[in-house]
Amino acid sequence: MKKITVLTFLLCFLSTSAWSASLQLAGKTVGIGQPSWVRVCLDRKVSKLTVRLCQREFDLEKVKKNCYAGPIAVDVRQKLGYYLVTALADGRQVASAKIKVVSKDYGVRRITVNKKYSKLTAEQLARYRREIASIKAAIKNSSAGRLWKGSFIKPVATKVVSRFGKRSIVNGIEKSPHGGVDLRGKVGDPVKAPANGRVNLVLDTYFGGLMVMIDHGRGLVSCYLHLSAALVEPGQVVEKGEVIGEVGSSGRVTGPHLHWGIYLAGAKLSPLDWIDTSKTLSRFYGETNAKN
Ligand SMILES: [Zn+2]
Repeated sequence: MKKITVLTFLLCFLSTSAWSASLQLAGKTVGIGQPSWVRVCLDRKVSKLTVRLCQREFDLEKVKKNCYAGPIAVDVRQKLGYYLVTALADGRQVASAKIKVVSKDYGVRRITVNKKYSKLTAEQLARYRREIASIKAAIKNSSAGRLWKGSFIKPVATKVVSRFGKRSIVNGIEKSPHGGVDLRGKVGDPVKAPANGRVNLVLDTYFGGLMVMIDHGRGLVSCYLHLSAALVEPGQVVEKGEVIGEVGSSGRVTGPHLHWGIYLAGAKLSPLDWIDTSKTLSRFYGETNAKN
């Protein structure tokens, strides 16, 4: 009797521990501020598949029987070195792979701005802190399901005037690296939603000027700064290509342009590189020819 109990226990242990899972990375390295993708295939059905990297959790989506794929990203301020990408099936660790976070030279920008942006009064500082709290909440406030389909487009079809990730020297003092890409534009030019989503913030901010944020689902949130007009409201569902606002020069700027930023699970990443990653993912999702 005792033998049977031990044997049953062993069999149970083996059947739950012997998971077969494979984890495929887009590459063995990823640059700071860069998006990438991961694919995980299992020998059984699970209800939730996520991967963890640098303390962020990324939701994957079923792409075919027992296979899941989705984007991952490394924040532009992430420390360089080796990290583990760990796959969790219904919370259980099933596979992992090493990835090397490498530096990327995005260049340096030196800008001079009005003193009112370099020395804040107590009142301005309090306002700035309130705005940061709202922006952080909007970055976190992403719906569980993916709202976008197909690949992303540029919100304005113009040239880059300042690249993402540049080290920023403002009035001689080093600040955070440029958190988005600046695209050329005149005041009043239409700004389009780069993909389907839901507006989750419209706010007139001290540094960013009038801004709009869109939740695209599954932890992906985009932002549009320095607008002269916002043509959407929080909660509004927007489609790829729909006009959400107009280019302007509100906030801390040296001239009119659109600052476009993208966050994935809170990681700031390069929007133009995200367009390429979204193309690869749309092939996984079988949406290559999708209109939206
Ligand atoms: Zn910018």
